[in-house]
Amino acid sequence: MTDRLVMVVEDDPVVQLLTRHQLARLGQSCIVVSSGEEAVARVKGNISLILMDVGLPGMDGLTATRMIREQEKQENRQSVPIIALTGHSIRDDCLRAGMNDFLQKPALLADIQRVLDTWLPTNGNPSEKQS
Ligand SMILES: [Mg+2]
Repeated sequence: MTDRLVMVVEDDPVVQLLTRHQLARLGQSCIVVSSGEEAVARVKGNISLILMDVGLPGMDGLTATRMIREQEKQENRQSVPIIALTGHSIRDDCLRAGMNDFLQKPALLADIQRVLDTWLPTNGNPSEKQS
C-alpha cells in the first residue's frame, strides 16, 4: 500500500465501483467524487493523481481540468497528473485542456497499472519524473 492518494472523478456509479475495485487490486487508495466542481474543490488537498471523466453533469472534465491548471498556476503549485478516463474518443481535446494522458473506457487493469507506473510520483515529488 501507499500513502499516495488518487482521486477518481466519475458520475456513473458502476464505473465508480469498477475503478475503485481496479485501484484496490493495484494496492492504490483512492477517493471518488462525482462532479467537476467537487474535483476542483478537493484537489487542493493531498492528491497525487486524478482519473478524470469528461462527461459529467454540470462542469465537465475538460473545464474542471482547465480550472485546476489555472489554480495551480495562480497558486504556484506543482501540477497534479490528470489522466482522462472517458468513453469519448477525444484524446486531443483532453491533452489541450491540460491533461497528461488518456484512457478510453472500459479501462483494463493493465491500462490503470501503466498510468500509475507512468504518472504517480515515486517519492512525493512529481518533478523527479521529468528530470
Ligand atoms: Mg460520465
